[in-house]
Amino acid sequence: MRTYQKVLLVDCGTAFYKTLRYRVGDFFGPVDLGLHLSGKYNSLNMGTGLLAGSVFPGSNRLIFTGFSPCWGGFYISSMGGAGLVFDDLGINTLSLVGKAPTPSVLALHRAHEEEIQVEIVPLDIHGVWRKDRQGIYGVMDYTLRRFGEQYETDPRILAVGQAAGATDFGAIASVPIKKGKLTSVDTWAGRGGFGSKLLKEHGIAAIIYGGTFIDEDFRDRKVADQWFENKYQMKMSAKDLEATSKYRFEPDFQTGGTFGVNFSTLRGLALSFNYRSIYMTEEERLHIHHQFIENHYLKQFNRETIETKQYRNCGEPCSAVCKKMHGTYKKDYEPYQTMGPLSGIFDHRAAEKLNHHANMYGFDAISVGGILSWLMECLSEGLLTPTELGIGSADPVFSPKGFSIVSDSMHNADIGVSILDAIIEKRGILNLEEGARKMGRRLSRDKGKRVLDPFVYTAFARKGWMPPNQYWTPGVLSPMAIMGKYYMHYGKEFLPPRELGRTSAKRMIKELVLDNMGMCRFHRAWAEEMMPEIVGSLYGLEKEFLENTSKMASRIQSRNASIFWESERSLDMIQTFLIRKHTVDGVTDPTLLGWIDAFGKNKPEAALHFWYEMHMGIQESLKEF
Ligand code: SF4
Repeated sequence: MRTYQKVLLVDCGTAFYKTLRYRVGDFFGPVDLGLHLSGKYNSLNMGTGLLAGSVFPGSNRLIFTGFSPCWGGFYISSMGGAGLVFDDLGINTLSLVGKAPTPSVLALHRAHEEEIQVEIVPLDIHGVWRKDRQGIYGVMDYTLRRFGEQYETDPRILAVGQAAGATDFGAIASVPIKKGKLTSVDTWAGRGGFGSKLLKEHGIAAIIYGGTFIDEDFRDRKVADQWFENKYQMKMSAKDLEATSKYRFEPDFQTGGTFGVNFSTLRGLALSFNYRSIYMTEEERLHIHHQFIENHYLKQFNRETIETKQYRNCGEPCSAVCKKMHGTYKKDYEPYQTMGPLSGIFDHRAAEKLNHHANMYGFDAISVGGILSWLMECLSEGLLTPTELGIGSADPVFSPKGFSIVSDSMHNADIGVSILDAIIEKRGILNLEEGARKMGRRLSRDKGKRVLDPFVYTAFARKGWMPPNQYWTPGVLSPMAIMGKYYMHYGKEFLPPRELGRTSAKRMIKELVLDNMGMCRFHRAWAEEMMPEIVGSLYGLEKEFLENTSKMASRIQSRNASIFWESERSLDMIQTFLIRKHTVDGVTDPTLLGWIDAFGKNKPEAALHFWYEMHMGIQESLKEF
């Protein structure tokens, strides 16, 4: 097994590169290495875990780290399957410093036994964004055409779209390439704005990589099976099938994947119309869930995707096949929720149109969906005009009353598409180059705080912002050092806020174990507990790995500059959650009742206490000693 990790440090300004080596034990993976490299070089890093290329399913995620342009702090984002081809470069991490003078493609290639080859080649990015399939797809088409032939085996391409240039939250996209052809299964390092960082700080619009270098990956299935038998009395593949069933097909709900399972189970917790569902009665929410979602949006998905078994993987041979497709459209819960019900869209043709347009531009889908739903509410309430947003006449249908599912969804999607175009072209007041929070602040100053109040996000440091994951629970608005991914507890039960902070801190440590090993979290049911033991069996370093993970969490926490909620609707998300716990779920815990009472008497004061209680729970759990 590898006893050290190799980092390829590339200066994008000069194409000079060098290789650094780090002993396994001092660093264990792409996150602790990324934290170190980011602190030292302010680099953008991407790398695989120690088990990339091994027999363990889910072990080939490509993990991105660096200081995030939109969040403002250290961030971690990851992409499914992209680590498998990366492993053929014979390095563990690629670290980018410096900036290419004009937008360029970084090409990395390594043939067996040979040195890695590094090329930085300029491209006409604006021309490429407009050509072929446009945006990220145009960049992938161009890059494969221009560089593909030099690869003996299928390479992989990371690409950015116009959102990377026009905003601080552009994502990085990629698709598996099969037999020389780009597939439609797009995978994303979505959150954290690493596409914007790649383009704006390093001048790189695409990275193509691949090779035939072979190193010693753990391939002994018999030994792995023995470890699983000892722990679960099952072979590895059987345990993995059991652990990932909800992502493949869940017989209890007759559906599968994050879209199918979430929309089957949300019921009164489903969020719609820019979170305005939180102010409705439970009956109204159930009506939306039953009529708009179960009877239409989910039914369409089940008919078009589940019954026809359009299941794909992210590029690694994984039996979870979590990528649920309808033709060229991939259906995940959160993009099809934020650019779905949250934006007043409950029909797949409309949601596909809007999601595809956002994907083509290379936006982080959850963030841009949060912005669209916010702006659509502002339009429908007359807080902003179409002229101010630089779009033609637009009046979103933003209430369930009399909502026509197919035509009103398409009407709203068309407005969403116009707003996306206006963001990219910076029309009207829409300038998101420095993020939505800064734009919201400007709008508040010019037009009053009522414009900012319907925007739900967590705030960090001076201008960091992050629309939350799509669950109606206080955990998604926690003051954690990294928000927008699952480094917090998003269960729907009531936990006193101090306890919630502690639980989120524990979750963060478990997620760090997965990310630092390059593991896909959909395999977490076994991977969380097995990974430290596997590090123990292969390297004799289980205790050190666990200590290192705790230390890493406390170091990330030491930079936690979370800011108290700034918009009214964020406070209302908490208050209405608490009230619903009592009135709908019948919870009579005196602590819950106390919080409901406090919010009723003085909402801002109670919210501040609630926030600080969570913060204390996090802080006391993630201290270094
Ligand atoms: S669960 Fe999905 S994302 Fe994760 S490894 Fe399998 S196919 Fe890839």
